[in-house]
Amino acid sequence: MEFRVPRKVLIVGGGLAGTLMAWGCQERGVDFEQWSNGSPAASDVAAGMFNPVSFRRILPQWDAANQSARAREVFSIVEKALGIDLWHDVPIIRIFPDAQYAALWTERARGGHEVTPFIESMPADFLHPSINAPYGAGMVPDAGWVNVRLLTEKSRALQLQNGKWKNHSWSMRDGCPPGFDAVVDCRGVGAAADLAQFGLELRRNHGEVITVQTAMDWGAQTVNNVTWTLPLGNGAFRIGSTYRWDIEEPVVLEKSLNHLLRQANLARIKPALLASDVTSHLAGLRPSCFDRRPILGRVSTQHHWYVACTGWGTRGVSIGPTMVDWTLDAMLGITSDVPDEVHPKRFRTFTKN
Ligand SMILES: Cc1cc2nc3c(=O)[nH]c(=O)nc-3n(C[C@H](O)[C@H](O)[C@H](O)COP(=O)(O)OP(=O)(O)OC[C@H]3O[C@@H](n4cnc5c(N)ncnc54)[C@H](O)[C@@H]3O)c2cc1C
Repeated sequence: MEFRVPRKVLIVGGGLAGTLMAWGCQERGVDFEQWSNGSPAASDVAAGMFNPVSFRRILPQWDAANQSARAREVFSIVEKALGIDLWHDVPIIRIFPDAQYAALWTERARGGHEVTPFIESMPADFLHPSINAPYGAGMVPDAGWVNVRLLTEKSRALQLQNGKWKNHSWSMRDGCPPGFDAVVDCRGVGAAADLAQFGLELRRNHGEVITVQTAMDWGAQTVNNVTWTLPLGNGAFRIGSTYRWDIEEPVVLEKSLNHLLRQANLARIKPALLASDVTSHLAGLRPSCFDRRPILGRVSTQHHWYVACTGWGTRGVSIGPTMVDWTLDAMLGITSDVPDEVHPKRFRTFTKN
């Protein structure tokens, strides 16, 4: 593909991807401007949790150690620059669904497995007394959440102040606007129609979260029984998430609210939450790909100035900083291309031209 190191980059999107891309450009001294049209963002809904373990099969997440370390480093730089707290370390208590799962967790926590460094066994008398765990529970100590909404809001304010932000829409048919040498597409699901032109299917994964206020003492750890309950402090908890492929708009459903409340109550010995405790109920569309890996880098020889950086799926906080590194490394010619696992060529329908 034709290649030119860009002098000025247009970043499209004001969500987590666009925001981290702007910080990445700043870190590397690349001039940029950020445009967003204010359409609904998954990042405004995200709980921002990070967790290095996939609970379904008790395995480490993709490249968990490296990506977690880089996320911690980048968010710490941004926190210092903005003078705010974004990163919150909150261990996760995973309630075991049955005896077989409990046995597998215990065996892997003991040692000798790739997930061992990320999980711990949890003696029953260490569990918070509110937790209902008939088969026991395990702990993921290096977990927590990032305040994504605060990050995007404060970053936008800074870019506005620096004259680097515009409320502006962009799509592929606008081309590379005058004054820019490259466009980095961080439009989340907003990029789906343009990527489809190149045989790249970006899927919309609908998800909902609720926030509740309760007087119950539920401890300071996130509790996961497939649904998670994340303590925010002062009696507030965020509860999520749902996952659906059949809804294409970020609409909230009463059915989901009831499901999340029911699940959160099941995790406690004294079920206490009522619909009247819910203080917010939000929905968003996660930009996702068939193999749960993002789409990064150049997608077309004819549009050599166009660089994708989307498809961050359910784990934007954990993978985002590394995805920005890979995108920028390839765009700036530090690497010859993005790694195969995030390359558009892994789509069998990819057209290249
Ligand atoms: C319910 C829910 C819970 C989640 N929980 C977590 C979690 O706990 N941890 C985690 O890591 N991730 C979580 N996620 C996933 C996370 O939200 C995403 O990985 C991440 O936010 C995606 O960021 P993005 O910037 O790619 O997309 P978005 O946040 O959707 O941002 C897209 C941006 O592009 C702008 N835009 C769109 N079209 C245009 C256009 N034509 N012109 C200009 N601008 C445009 C939009 O206005 C927006 O600013 C959750 C998501 C949901 C829905």
